[in-house]
Amino acid sequence: MNRQTSETYYSEAKEVILGGVNSPSRAYKGVGGGTPVFMETGSGAYLKDVDGNTYIDYLAAYGPIITGHAHPHITEAIQQAAADAVLLGTPTKYENTFAAMLQEAIPSLERVRFVNSGTEAVMTTIRVARAYTGRNKIIKFAGCYHGHSDLVLVAAGSGPSTTGNPDSAGVTKNIASEVITVPFNDTHALKEALDHFGEETAAVMVEPIVGNFGMVEPEPGFLEEVNDLAHAAGSLVIYDEVITAFRFMYGGAQNMLGVTPDLTAMGKIIGGGLPIGAYGGRRDIMEEVSPMGPAYQAGTMAGNPASIRSGIACLEVLQGNGIYEKMDLLGQRLQEGIEQAAADYQIPAHVQRVCGALTVYFGVDSVKNFADAESSDTAMFASFFHQMLDKGVHLAPSKFEAWFLTTEHTEKEIDQTIEAVREVFENGLSTA
Ligand code: PMP
Repeated sequence: MNRQTSETYYSEAKEVILGGVNSPSRAYKGVGGGTPVFMETGSGAYLKDVDGNTYIDYLAAYGPIITGHAHPHITEAIQQAAADAVLLGTPTKYENTFAAMLQEAIPSLERVRFVNSGTEAVMTTIRVARAYTGRNKIIKFAGCYHGHSDLVLVAAGSGPSTTGNPDSAGVTKNIASEVITVPFNDTHALKEALDHFGEETAAVMVEPIVGNFGMVEPEPGFLEEVNDLAHAAGSLVIYDEVITAFRFMYGGAQNMLGVTPDLTAMGKIIGGGLPIGAYGGRRDIMEEVSPMGPAYQAGTMAGNPASIRSGIACLEVLQGNGIYEKMDLLGQRLQEGIEQAAADYQIPAHVQRVCGALTVYFGVDSVKNFADAESSDTAMFASFFHQMLDKGVHLAPSKFEAWFLTTEHTEKEIDQTIEAVREVFENGLSTA
């Protein structure tokens, strides 16, 4: 596959854009490097690159593009928003409509606010939880990604009864001393952390179904225990549903699992591909936020009509009959195809899937927490990624990411993908 034009653009990019990319994983760091493909257009389940190659896409822009690329209903909404004025700096009726749609789908969102990214949404839920509880610390789970604000770029200390260490240069030790990180699915560790720091803890933050070290479900009772332990300590529970909201059903993972947080952060899918974040939750907690309360949050672009109308259009598409059932069935077909190929060619591949989102790990039998995911084989994944790319299947360039199906994937794309997997497995994966 010729990708000469991508090579040229990447060389040029590195002369003007730091590192040549505007988000680090796009530089293929997780798959041993290489030249990132410069994509030009997307349509349904497909992407076309600047050299004219086409790919079946499972990146879905890291999740938001659940209705496929350039979905006509969303495109029309964005065009109309552009024609009507892209930014007004005033309230619009569309924000009311969209907030009501979110609240109807996710009843715990008694009050909502729109921001511009998942990072902002998460960052603000933490501020609100601190304002409400008058406490400083947060507890989070290892490997869950919550955006790039300081408080969530903190790695675990040396155990549940210690605070963390900066996970990025520029995050101060003071900030890291406000954060405790424990393993996902480990209620003992959470209990130990709360025994130690409970009285200082404003909130426990969790991805209810993890999407950031592959697709990892909570074990039965885990999220109930998170709620019980946090609340017993007087702490709030924040769900980061930036990936999961509207991914598995029309609603949040919280609806699917039947557990309710105090606050929820969202993003990705709810913008239909335009920049967005939203957060919300219990009304008495949300009333901490300005202009009603003392916790400040603002935004020039917050609630902009283009993102909001794109989001409304996306949710309208997702209200269609059988949408999620279809993604689930196709996800199952893909999973079974990959598992069969792995068995036939004796490749140690392990698939974890929730509805239309799945992860293929190599060299591990089961992934329950970040340590399991980390121990999966990076070199094999990198070899798999690059070979799949050369066969026209576009995956996320990291062993920790999920493959996302869209409403536009059909049996045809799934079967072609399985065929590509079979060819790659037959050829073999390099382990070095
Ligand atoms: N939370 C989760 C669970 C995420 O997956 C991400 C992004 N991958 C974020 C927060 C940050 O969202 P954004 O990139 O829109 O800032």
